[in-house]
Amino acid sequence: MSTPTGFMDYKRELPADRDPLERIKDWEEFHKHFSDDQLRTQGARCMDCGTPYCHTGMELSGGASGCPVNNLIPEWNNLIYRGLWREALDRLHKTNNFPEFTGRVCPAPCEGSCTIALIGDAVTIKTIEQSIIDKGFEEGWVVPQPPLMRTGKKVAVVGSGPAGMATAAQLNKAGHTVTVYERADRIGGLLTYGIPTMKLDKKVVQRRVDLMEAEGISFVTNAEVGGNVPAEQLMNEFDAIVLCGGATKAREVDIPGRDLNGVHLAMDYLNGTIKSYLDSNLEDGNYISAKDKDVIVIGGGDTGTDCVATALRHGCKSITQFGTVGKAPLVRDNEKNPWPQFPNVYTLDYAQEEAKALYGADPRAFSVLTKKFVGDENGNLKELHTVQIERTVDETGRRIYTEIPGTEKVWPADLVMIAVGFDGPEQTLVQKLGLETDRRSNVKAAYGQYKTSVDKVFAAGDMRRGQSLVVWAINEGREAAREVDRYLMGTTMLP
Ligand SMILES: Cc1cc2nc3c(=O)[nH]c(=O)nc-3n(C[C@H](O)[C@H](O)[C@H](O)COP(=O)(O)OP(=O)(O)OC[C@H]3O[C@@H](n4cnc5c(N)ncnc54)[C@H](O)[C@@H]3O)c2cc1C
Ligand code: SF4
Repeated sequence: MSTPTGFMDYKRELPADRDPLERIKDWEEFHKHFSDDQLRTQGARCMDCGTPYCHTGMELSGGASGCPVNNLIPEWNNLIYRGLWREALDRLHKTNNFPEFTGRVCPAPCEGSCTIALIGDAVTIKTIEQSIIDKGFEEGWVVPQPPLMRTGKKVAVVGSGPAGMATAAQLNKAGHTVTVYERADRIGGLLTYGIPTMKLDKKVVQRRVDLMEAEGISFVTNAEVGGNVPAEQLMNEFDAIVLCGGATKAREVDIPGRDLNGVHLAMDYLNGTIKSYLDSNLEDGNYISAKDKDVIVIGGGDTGTDCVATALRHGCKSITQFGTVGKAPLVRDNEKNPWPQFPNVYTLDYAQEEAKALYGADPRAFSVLTKKFVGDENGNLKELHTVQIERTVDETGRRIYTEIPGTEKVWPADLVMIAVGFDGPEQTLVQKLGLETDRRSNVKAAYGQYKTSVDKVFAAGDMRRGQSLVVWAINEGREAAREVDRYLMGTTMLP
């Protein structure tokens, strides 16, 4: 334990992010760091409770509770308190291959289940995690660690998101020869094309890819397995295949006027901007621009939020984010949403904070259903027609949305992004390999085992569990590597 009374002596504090009005002028990361002394104080708030829930990593009521990669949180909090940074880094890498990603983008289910959160403010776990790994890189402690021997076994990993990267890193550690196939022109999956640069600088992703290459992993880009790289080739050439292709089949809306000019899928909008930014600092103009436009984002989740932040940086005229869910309570409803579940409380994410700073109000409109898009005589979007809805749950747990009469509204708009979720993995490769799927069209493979219905083919990450979180993808990638190692060698030392 750091200090027995630290959680009473010190308040939870977070480093201030960059000023919202300043940061929307560029595409740089908005995170800032605490000093070592401030981090020591925050680490001192961890009481190393006898049964810490922060690192349990389970699903409760459909949300994550505790750390899905089972980070040894109380241990590194104590090491930071004692100034033992290098030891803290070693502890962190024991459970998480990529803390520089989770330290930046994880929603921190560990903090929701921190014991102090029962009666007060959780330990600042995520901030400490990012600081440990960032210091590790600054100090030159993170260096390539190639395996001492090779097993002669060859494994192909399809997809280079966090699940594919974690699988590759662990299998390489076990001495197998790993090739990662990625259909995009850059490695990283949604870490690269998905999550915007201001949340996760792509140099941070590339830095880890470079390390993995130096450790002996081969990455092949512009290589779509089941497309320009035949699936049979992999089946013939490799001893095992791990599918980590993600779940990015966009969910569509069935709303009249969907085909009007100016109505786009969120991922086309986000990825166009990221690619153009990385290729040419946005000078090639190959992206959908929100400049001077009235923008509406349909969808209240992470993807919608990233669209809001992107539109602000484009210089939109106005921004509104629709969600069908009602406004969350200001404090946790302990009956419906008890600790250690992920707390469902009203907060401003980075994009809403920026919009509020610029326009004076939270850009979200809650409990809104879009009824139709209306265009002008040239087929260009002009306005959205909506109605307020009430959400109830019937006795079987099914959600029912009821329109509230008299709440119809018309919203002027020239650009709309649809961010209403994803419908599982794309099916081309799944069908080519003849894989069984579950009822949500994800590749069927039991959690903890990762074996698909086809011999020597494994699946992990969003492709197996559906659109989720970076930290779950890392967890599944690590565990799938362990199962592949067991399959290849009959036994395994991987965690
Ligand atoms: C806009 C957006 C923002 C998000 N923000 C967050 C966040 O802030 N925090 C968080 O924790 N999670 C976030 N998520 C979710 C998170 O990014 C994903 O859960 C995670 O990336 C899944 O990892 P994965 O490796 O399973 O798949 P992905 O990251 O989707 O990677 C799959 C990769 O496989 C490749 N691929 C697919 N098929 C083939 C093929 N046949 N051949 C070769 N390559 C193929 C794809 O091109 C892709 O690069 C966000 C998701 C989105 C869409
Ligand atoms: S990976 Fe996420 S859940 Fe785990 S310690 Fe870090 S912030 Fe918390």
